Amino acid sequence: MPLLYYWRPDNHERDARFGFGFHLNQNSPAMASVGMGESLWAFTRRRRDGQYILAAELVVRAVTRNPPNYRYGRWRIWGDLERSRYFDVEAGPRVDPLIRTLDLRASARRLGQSFQGSAAVRRLSEADHLLLAEYARDLPVTAHAAIYHEDEFEARLVHDESVRHLIARESSAIQGRRMRYLYETVDVQRARRHVLTLQEMYAGRCQVCLYDPQDAYGHRTCHGHHIQWLSRGGEDDLENMMLVCPNHHAAIHRDDAAFDYGELMLLFSNGVREPLRLNRHLPAA
Ligand SMILES: [Zn+2]
Ligand SMILES: [Zn+2]
Repeated sequence: MPLLYYWRPDNHERDARFGFGFHLNQNSPAMASVGMGESLWAFTRRRRDGQYILAAELVVRAVTRNPPNYRYGRWRIWGDLERSRYFDVEAGPRVDPLIRTLDLRASARRLGQSFQGSAAVRRLSEADHLLLAEYARDLPVTAHAAIYHEDEFEARLVHDESVRHLIARESSAIQGRRMRYLYETVDVQRARRHVLTLQEMYAGRCQVCLYDPQDAYGHRTCHGHHIQWLSRGGEDDLENMMLVCPNHHAAIHRDDAAFDYGELMLLFSNGVREPLRLNRHLPAA
């Protein structure tokens, strides 16, 4: 079923400043009930006037489990990069009159109070989904939803080169934020050490297909991959990384393959599912 998601204003603002990541997390088990290709509608509360505004439609391409104790909740929804939309919350009209007509209980005087805790995500009927789709048809969308070439980021960051020129293509509003994230929050030296740790742990082999480049060519050519991309706010810790061969790495990025910590498995958009055949460091959810 389609979903309606209340996006806490502080989280929405943080993601807007960074550049949206096409992911939304929550603890509610309702997250797992959405079907592939269905919509998750997200609304938030605009700080300057306290109005409720429609913020995004993520067209769902995967639902996965996060690592145990992940701070933003147990479930992650991955929005399709082409079909998902982020709306301009500063320019958008109020959405609460529409939400109050939907077939879900939202009777608190302040709408956000009806969407606390696990009620922050609600299942929507098909009729209600269509009402939202009609409402959103001509809403202005925001530019803060650019997707970076993560392969370039990772390749350069872990090989001691600058990624500044990659970020320089972005609008200045997001540039500074992203630059600070990659050069201050992310510890590049630590990320490099993590790759070496993984190389040692798996003797240079791909965790997915066991390919061993050392055996074939005498060189360790597998890559450290960030499961939640650095360019989408992913963290530079071992729990967010895996060692993969260059083929797998290219396919994962080209596809934006999801990763599920429940099954410890990659989920490709054509339906192919590949479990890790080698794993000693990722915790199962
Ligand atoms: Zn591989
Ligand atoms: Zn990667």
